[in-house]
Amino acid sequence: MISKHLKIKGQYWTDSLTLVSGCSPVSEGCAHCWSAGMASRFDWGKPYAKNGKWTGKVEPNYKALEKLEKRVGSERKLKPRVFCIWNDLLYPQIPCDFQLRVLHAMYYLEQDVFLILTKRPEEIENSAFCQGPFEDTELPNIYIGVSVESQKHIHRIDQLIKNWPGKKFVSIEPCLGAVDLSPEQLAELNQVIIGCESGANRRQPPDMKYLHSMLWQCSKMAVPVFLKQWDMYGKFRKMPKFDGHTYDQLTWSKTLTQEVPKGDTG
Ligand code: SF4
Repeated sequence: MISKHLKIKGQYWTDSLTLVSGCSPVSEGCAHCWSAGMASRFDWGKPYAKNGKWTGKVEPNYKALEKLEKRVGSERKLKPRVFCIWNDLLYPQIPCDFQLRVLHAMYYLEQDVFLILTKRPEEIENSAFCQGPFEDTELPNIYIGVSVESQKHIHRIDQLIKNWPGKKFVSIEPCLGAVDLSPEQLAELNQVIIGCESGANRRQPPDMKYLHSMLWQCSKMAVPVFLKQWDMYGKFRKMPKFDGHTYDQLTWSKTLTQEVPKGDTG
């Protein structure tokens, strides 16, 4: 059972890490950006967001990187974590040498999993992920994912497949319409996350038949699915049951359930 290892129901990671401060909207899925809302609520986020919208200022967050590098240098046996990287590490203004330091740290933290979500998969080929010392290195603990809010943005999956030979996932959240994945796309994916929009300003979720179709497509190709949240007949639910099933499959679950040596508090 995965959910007992997660701090909050409906969360598919154990820790978040803001390696990039700020962002800017790409498509309609960004309209109610949760991260911009959070950043504008706190002093640390003020240069980057105001009234729930990004200001346009985007910078690498060296403090967060140093935190990660400190973890590499730890002499304790560390409890495995699943880190979700906030904002977009593939944002065009993020320098390659910063990405390279991030990759070095992730590479050495082999007990952890890192989830890097982007709406800019076209940037992968010009980033440190595809160039430099890691070009031909296997990085089994790094997953790059693309957000696809509707069929209009399905090409992001093809760009991800073209540019990233490592582990891949798709986040259909916020789901704003039907998404039909081809068998070729599904065959390349290690994980699919599905969720309707959350928050007070959420838009109407798409028709239930679209959810049914996405779950069916994934089950036919045996792709693990995590149904994060959905509006079930007018009621917003985290990890709801659908047709009698809870979709809580996470391919990185082995990391979460890994035995941790006694005495570890990491
Ligand atoms: S890409 Fe992500 S972080 Fe950036 S504005 Fe869109 S939803 Fe927000």
